[in-house]
Amino acid sequence: MKRKKGKGKKQEKIVISRIRKLFEEAENIFKEDKKLANRYVSLARKLSMKYKVKIPTELKRRFCKNCYSYLKPGVNCRVRLRNKKVVYYCLECKHYMRFPYIKEIKLKRKLKIMRKNKKD
Ligand SMILES: [Zn+2]
Repeated sequence: MKRKKGKGKKQEKIVISRIRKLFEEAENIFKEDKKLANRYVSLARKLSMKYKVKIPTELKRRFCKNCYSYLKPGVNCRVRLRNKKVVYYCLECKHYMRFPYIKEIKLKRKLKIMRKNKKD
């Protein structure tokens, strides 16, 4: 039986919303239980691998690519801006991650335009 494309997209949406939920849970539990927060991250990663769904960009910054700890800026991670890049420094494993800042600027611009269009 052939799989319909539409079904795949629908499943992808469900998986992404589950991933988002897991990150929400991780955020909520982080203060009380870091380990549990990390478990939620690993569950989200497993989901993304199992269904070959990419973790949304904004959530990729919420965990360390090296040790997969849930990262909370100011708690177990430092955030710095350098050369139009956002540098995340994981305090758990001393790993640096760099994200281009330009993308965020573009995204913000896009959102602004969208909002403007709505008003008009
Ligand atoms: Zn780390």
